[in-house]
Amino acid sequence: MTTVDSVLEPAVDVLWQRLQGQLADIAQRYPDAALASSLAAEDMVLTHAIYEGGFPLEIFTLDTGRLHTETLGMQDAVRERYGRSLTVYRPDAAAVDAHVNAHGAYAFYESVELRKACCQIRKVDPLKRALAGRGAWITGQRRAQAATRGELPEAEHDPVFGLYKYNPLAAWSEEDVWHVIRALGIHYNPLHDQGYPSIGCEPCTRAVRPGEDVRAGRWWWESSDSKECGLHAGNRVISVVAATEKSTSV
Ligand code: SF4
Repeated sequence: MTTVDSVLEPAVDVLWQRLQGQLADIAQRYPDAALASSLAAEDMVLTHAIYEGGFPLEIFTLDTGRLHTETLGMQDAVRERYGRSLTVYRPDAAAVDAHVNAHGAYAFYESVELRKACCQIRKVDPLKRALAGRGAWITGQRRAQAATRGELPEAEHDPVFGLYKYNPLAAWSEEDVWHVIRALGIHYNPLHDQGYPSIGCEPCTRAVRPGEDVRAGRWWWESSDSKECGLHAGNRVISVVAATEKSTSV
């Protein structure tokens, strides 16, 4: 395992060492656990931790067919850096054809329902296949990323996909993530340097302006409380439960 004590600030080094322990614990409890990587900054931190740490955890990514060229290029960057290939899951071609033929290639701009239908075909259904038979999955979600993630736990039972879910970076700040990336020389998607703090599909992501929420560029034409694609639908379940508990406790 790489010794990084000398290059990380003490507070971040504590987070980094804790992450190693979390990954070791996940690998021991769930040898079939896998990181779902969007190839964004947080997922590259986790990828580095898993591959450099020698943890026997699989890493997969979802190629929706609508990703930026820069995001697709990150698959090659990972292979060149770590000598490992990510497992790639793609949408069912017939389902994509049927949706596009019925609604058009840009139907996601027309309504939340059509947007979610596209996300279901291109993201959620492939994710279901990727998670089938596993005991747990790992994500790079952080609480500070969005209103829907404010109460994100580090570990939870995923009620949507029916397995355990780990969010080991839940408490990390954006600064923590970028300190680790820069200090350890981790590759990252060049779109992050072009105003994209959060990166999804090309037609559904725009650059954000200084001061805007980090996920303001995702489905920017929708209200902020609907900005999940279904991969983390449980986030809203948790928020609703928490809101209910708060409203009934007074
Ligand atoms: S983010 Fe946009 S293009 Fe990608 S799956 Fe969702 S609606 Fe479709």
